[in-house]
Amino acid sequence: MNYYSPEDFYSVDKYDMHVHYNTHQHQLLEQAKKDNFRLFSINTNVVPDFEPVAKQQEYAAHALQSYPERFDYSTAFTLDNWHSEDWQQQTLDYLKESFNKGAVGVKVWKNIGMELRDKDGSFVMIDDPRFDPILDFIEKNDITLLGHLGEPRNCWLPLEEMAIKNDYDYFSKHPQYHMYLHPEYPSYQEQIDARDRMLDKHPNIRFVGLHLASLEWSVDEVAKRLDKYPNMSVDTAERISHLQYQATTDHQKVYDFFIKYQDRIIYGTDIILDDTQSQDEAVKKAHALWTYHWKFFTGDEMMEAPELKEPFRALHLPREVVDKLYYKNYRKWYPNTKTK
Ligand SMILES: [Zn+2]
Repeated sequence: MNYYSPEDFYSVDKYDMHVHYNTHQHQLLEQAKKDNFRLFSINTNVVPDFEPVAKQQEYAAHALQSYPERFDYSTAFTLDNWHSEDWQQQTLDYLKESFNKGAVGVKVWKNIGMELRDKDGSFVMIDDPRFDPILDFIEKNDITLLGHLGEPRNCWLPLEEMAIKNDYDYFSKHPQYHMYLHPEYPSYQEQIDARDRMLDKHPNIRFVGLHLASLEWSVDEVAKRLDKYPNMSVDTAERISHLQYQATTDHQKVYDFFIKYQDRIIYGTDIILDDTQSQDEAVKKAHALWTYHWKFFTGDEMMEAPELKEPFRALHLPREVVDKLYYKNYRKWYPNTKTK
């Protein structure tokens, strides 16, 4: 049989390429073992929702020590000293230390483009030349760059026009990032263009565009970038509902996208774990999410999503495509991984 069953979930090797593992408690890693997942934790410079990046790196180092075959992480640098002359050198030193500790990626976040400003008030975008030595250093060390740059296109729409419930929830709780309320900020297109110009300047850097590269609303738009940038792949984190939304009206198109770009799409969820949560509950939720997504990618039935009004059909991807999505693509895009 060329397709996986629901039971195969437990035996097939899988990665979740997008979690934020910010705790010393390891119940989720134990669950990952049972569910045959390896976890990739992404340090992120989110102030103040997350702890400082150096502290996140500590959590990662601890998990790496305890589960060396099941855990990888990506580091991130701060922009706290952006206005100081030492920022570049401090950042290079921090990255070097991170690579020595085992980081296999570096993440840049949407605060570049949407928050960071120069002294004259202008926004600093990711194609700013001051980032070039940092990006060159990442490339030279054969490390993967991860970018969550810009936001879902919904972010520039009024709340009531957002078709996806989780976008509605996020932006109603984070008005500072709801760009419809901030017309003076760079537009959606400016965010995407700055990212593309950064890739034009650094064609050899290995790049993972997180959250479907912020082009979640159209698999055609993602496809255009994958065609243009051969060293780019995307992850699915927190945007699977957008794929399901597109599948409500054009299932074939979403299916064809996964077939055509089967070497370029990596499974990830965006599970966030810290000490403010009940670990038992977080573990239960993670397991439910993982099995639900497995059903969407491997099954053939009609499904519903809490974020959507309309039902959609599961994608029913062939085994070899599922293996790439969940395992092989991770290993290809993170060749330095210590996991097995
Ligand atoms: Zn994330």
